[in-house]
Amino acid sequence: MTKSTILLTNIQFVDSHDHHITGWIYVEGTKIKSLGQGQPKNFPVDISLDGQGLTVLPGMIDLHTHGAKGNEMIGITAPGLQEMSQFYASHGVTGFLASTWTAPREAIRDAIAVTHSVMGNEMGAKILGVHLEGPWLNVAYCGAQDKSLIRTATREEAVEYLNTDLIRLVAVAPEIPDNEWIIRECVHRGITVAAGHTNATYVEMKRAVDMGVTQVTHCFNAMRPLNHREPGVVGAAFDLPQIKCELIADNIHVNPIVMKLLMNIKGPENVILISDSISAAGMPDGEYFFEGAKVTLKDGAARLQDGTLAGSTLTLERALANIMKATGRPMGELIACASLNPAHAIHMDDHKGQLRRDWDADLILVDQNLQVKFTMVEGKVVFRQF
Ligand SMILES: [Zn+2]
Repeated sequence: MTKSTILLTNIQFVDSHDHHITGWIYVEGTKIKSLGQGQPKNFPVDISLDGQGLTVLPGMIDLHTHGAKGNEMIGITAPGLQEMSQFYASHGVTGFLASTWTAPREAIRDAIAVTHSVMGNEMGAKILGVHLEGPWLNVAYCGAQDKSLIRTATREEAVEYLNTDLIRLVAVAPEIPDNEWIIRECVHRGITVAAGHTNATYVEMKRAVDMGVTQVTHCFNAMRPLNHREPGVVGAAFDLPQIKCELIADNIHVNPIVMKLLMNIKGPENVILISDSISAAGMPDGEYFFEGAKVTLKDGAARLQDGTLAGSTLTLERALANIMKATGRPMGELIACASLNPAHAIHMDDHKGQLRRDWDADLILVDQNLQVKFTMVEGKVVFRQF
């Protein structure tokens, strides 16, 4: 069977200084076959698309998202997950990790099973795997997660999840001795480990990095903060070059000044934009549920009744706009925080995260306000609004 071909013309590439260059991309099957400046050669094409001068970016990858449009990963159904996949695609995401949280074992098992059933048939963004955010966390920094269900990693439970071969990222509180084996086990299996919902000291974080931890879960949120006498998790994230920092750039979870500080300290190559979105994402203000608890959504902030932030309603293209505004850095430099860096974090940067010849044809077109107008996932147009 011959592969279908799509030629995208009249699109603007941006370089790391945000200089715009008009060009084209030729897609064959699921891959970018070639790309270039100016006018394309005479390719044999099935479909020719005029990009109307919109800016082309690599598709964004969200490593940390729990839900959207009234659906959430614990208790998820296949149609609900499809709705999430389409919603993310309409906001510029071409790949994501379905993220669970601290829940009973059967609930996590079910979430993984439903994810597996949808993988390969996604209607929007592609599911790149599962992210387990819990239950192996520290109750001292539970955030909105259910304290009573936080537990240490037992082999019996954990190996069942890992053996599905779908887990790509695991968030763990590394300072808890009973969790050490799971860090080593994940690293051994090529699964990325983030320190999250953690009370680790600097020394404990250094040890965690020696064991193979390479990331922190939503930097600044639900972790021991930086203190000038005890650098904590944040100080360790700043200091240790092995650590990449997830960031919820919604201007609510982290003040924009602190977002700028993080970018200056770690550099754009070490920051990963995440949404950490919950079911209320893409919904109007009102009352929602997060793991059975009532959440009030008001002005973009989702909070439990006691005021604790319960995930976000952020979408990644807004995160990119927010971090651009906070730092004053160009889009062409910061887009890696939402594409190449997350691809790298889960070892997929050899075929995703960049607009490159022979790379997956994951790409988006955005207008000058960073509104997403078009999304292509592995050569398939899944969203178009022009
Ligand atoms: Zn989360």
